[in-house]
Amino acid sequence: LLSLENVTVRFGGRTALDGVDLEVAEHERVCVLGPSGSGKSTLLRVVAGLQRVDAGRVLLSGADQSGVPVHRREVGLMFQDHQLFPQRDVAGNVAFGLRMRGTARGGIQERVAELLDLVGLPGAQRRAVAALSGGEQQRVALARALAPRPRLLMLDEPLGQLDRSLRERLVVELRDLFGRLGTTVLAVTHDQGEAFALADRVVVMRDGRIAQSGTPLEVWQRPASAFVARFLGFRN
Ligand code: ATP
Ligand code: MG
Repeated sequence: LLSLENVTVRFGGRTALDGVDLEVAEHERVCVLGPSGSGKSTLLRVVAGLQRVDAGRVLLSGADQSGVPVHRREVGLMFQDHQLFPQRDVAGNVAFGLRMRGTARGGIQERVAELLDLVGLPGAQRRAVAALSGGEQQRVALARALAPRPRLLMLDEPLGQLDRSLRERLVVELRDLFGRLGTTVLAVTHDQGEAFALADRVVVMRDGRIAQSGTPLEVWQRPASAFVARFLGFRN
């Protein structure tokens, strides 16, 4: 479904992505792990069309995405700091991407209701987002990202700011939800437990490059380098 070919992004003298090749198959769930500054968010932003590349290409179902504007890319992105619109209610937030894509009003209301059921917030349409708990806000952000039925859902630290017990619960819910919907997912996390619970495949990044890619079991049992082993917390 998604191919990155030799994608390179530089910020001044700093190389955020350094010739990244990555494939994500339809229905596959990939988690990107790596230290702070290794290029994880930049990778997602490139695929979403929010960050231009200095070299390489991004293809979705074989179609080169250069020149495809953000709102026409069939991908959803949930940001690291989920960035809800505080002045809009829950429905206004969830409907945002649908309006951008010109969905008819009746269709929007129906879809918003369906999504709120899906993320476990039925009937929350008129609630103010500022009055929601962190976990509820994450659910709204997830509903917003899912609304336009993206072919690829990208999540940047989806559970980043939540406490441990809520994360553990939501990760199970997400796994079930994605399994049910057959969603193709590319998610960034710094939490290994989360990656291992969610992912069919784990990609470990270091300094803008992919240090290892494999099933969680492979990466865990056979880290490809001392860096990966250290990152996973093995000593020696
Ligand atoms: P974190 O885990 O802290 O979120 P990350 O892996 O997501 O880190 P990125 O945000 O992709 O890292 O950043 C990769 C590198 O690119 C970092 O060195 C960062 O400082 C740099 N960078 C990212 N965005 C910009 C920008 N808009 N301008 C300049 N440098 C940037
Ligand atoms: Mg980041």
